[in-house]
Amino acid sequence: MEFRTGYIAIVGRPNVGKSTLLNHLIGQKISITSRKAQTTRHRIVGIRTDEDAQYVFVDTPGFQMQHQNVLNRVMNRTVTQSLSDVDVVLFVIESMRFGERDEKVLALLPRDCPVVLVINKLDKVSDKTDLLPFIEKVSVLFPFAAIIPVSAKRDAQLPELVQEIRRHLHEGAPIYGEEEITNRSERFLAAEIVREKVFRLLGDEIPYSISVEIEKFETEGNLRRVFAAIIVDRDSQKPILIGKKGEKLKEIGTQARKDMEELFNKKVYLEVWVKVKSGWADDERAVKSLGYE
Ligand code: GDP
Ligand code: MG
Repeated sequence: MEFRTGYIAIVGRPNVGKSTLLNHLIGQKISITSRKAQTTRHRIVGIRTDEDAQYVFVDTPGFQMQHQNVLNRVMNRTVTQSLSDVDVVLFVIESMRFGERDEKVLALLPRDCPVVLVINKLDKVSDKTDLLPFIEKVSVLFPFAAIIPVSAKRDAQLPELVQEIRRHLHEGAPIYGEEEITNRSERFLAAEIVREKVFRLLGDEIPYSISVEIEKFETEGNLRRVFAAIIVDRDSQKPILIGKKGEKLKEIGTQARKDMEELFNKKVYLEVWVKVKSGWADDERAVKSLGYE
């Protein structure tokens, strides 16, 4: 069988299970790679490599999987066009539910690229005979390439979905090497985890413009040594992050380390500090205007 490869976007209103689906599709084969995609305008959020195909999942400007509120602001043709260079779009909805917010996403679907309708949370439908009329109803809304009911959480019908996705990829060698993916993935995840802890522990106190840079990431057998800098715009933001007697920063570090150990299944030594980088917010704006998150 020929090797296939390509880009896949997952879209849908919040809470339909896009993240769950992505996680289950990439599973152990995982990899979340760097924010900076080399070959598309999209941010790569995960890669699955099988013997016969490589699936590169991307996040799409305006369809952000984590910041869905953007949908309300940038709903226009540009959003649709941003989908045009992927090989296939997965439009995810919930079983037995199709509302106004689903319609809004539907209106943005591209006509020049196959769209597979994924009806998720199949496990929540107690009487499966209810499903058929529902499928009939939604099937007329758009020329879907296929309609596949799944349960992302229970891994039901996911092999069928993967086969369907593969049909829409193009023939070609893998774009990413597996080694490269895994290494970058842990480093990327480490930064995401620290960033998440900062927001979880400081919330509104901290401007959205902070970022995390992994300055060093060392692999030593079963140990990972991670050196992370939290980057703020101004000196005045530093004490907020550090806290009284350094307690905030310590808490950020402790919680982040625990999450990393669990995720990597490795021992983690983590150092976190705060750095001021003036002009960073402007850099971020520049990045955003390129369509990256
Ligand atoms: P997203 O906002 O579209 O990314 O949705 P999430 O992946 O965060 O999922 C939203 C909620 O739906 C979470 O509580 C998931 O556990 C749940 N969920 C996702 N997939 C399934 C499924 O197949 N069955 C059930 N019962 N719940 C699911
Ligand atoms: Mg999500």
